[in-house]
Amino acid sequence: MKHDADISTQDPSGMKDWFPCPECRRETTHSVLSIVNSRRFEEDGLVQFLENYLTVRCDGCGTISFSHVSRCDAEVDYNEDGTPFLPKRKQHYPDIQADSANIQDAFVSEARVEEIESLQKEQFDTTKLGQLLVELNRAYSEHSYFTCLMLIRAIVDHVPPIFKKTKFSEIVNNYADGGKSFRESMKHLDASCRKFADGSLHCQIRSKESVPTRHQVEFKADIDALLGEIIRVLKQIP
Ligand SMILES: [Zn+2]
Repeated sequence: MKHDADISTQDPSGMKDWFPCPECRRETTHSVLSIVNSRRFEEDGLVQFLENYLTVRCDGCGTISFSHVSRCDAEVDYNEDGTPFLPKRKQHYPDIQADSANIQDAFVSEARVEEIESLQKEQFDTTKLGQLLVELNRAYSEHSYFTCLMLIRAIVDHVPPIFKKTKFSEIVNNYADGGKSFRESMKHLDASCRKFADGSLHCQIRSKESVPTRHQVEFKADIDALLGEIIRVLKQIP
């Protein structure tokens, strides 16, 4: 089979992204060392395949690994405001997902979960929130990324009354006490969660489907910021 592909190289200088490191056994920031792009048509020129081949180096341990990202223009998807995009398929070499027992990092730290559970207040019972966090950690360690996204969504919908709000979007738009970085984190969380709910949770089966990757559930810092603020607010309640 012959393919006519447009092959080009791209300047990777300064490019960084998250990739699974085979040495660190988790996702870490990597510097991109080289990028080769390929564009080819199949099925009589009707379907276009876009591929990126990346050589990347872990910023932590220096280990070099390889990433293949592919998109196909027959698989157009739409985000919540109707903008079309092409879902990415990512494959990493060597693949650490196959060896999942070695990835032990928790989504939410044990200390945070314990603190949330210990903050029992007359006004707010944190038992359910604590259990959602425990289940989120379990799902994350088992690479159940749909479950992670559903639980993150549930957490986000559960907590607004703590901030005297009825909806999470009101925390994003009208809650000033947490400061600028808190607001940025909440904005990120809100946008990603809505995108997931619209695009995945409530979407009927199609001819081509994509599943969430570890990278797409990486809201650890945002969730941690949310939990930190919840703890701060609840501690002020006598
Ligand atoms: Zn590493």
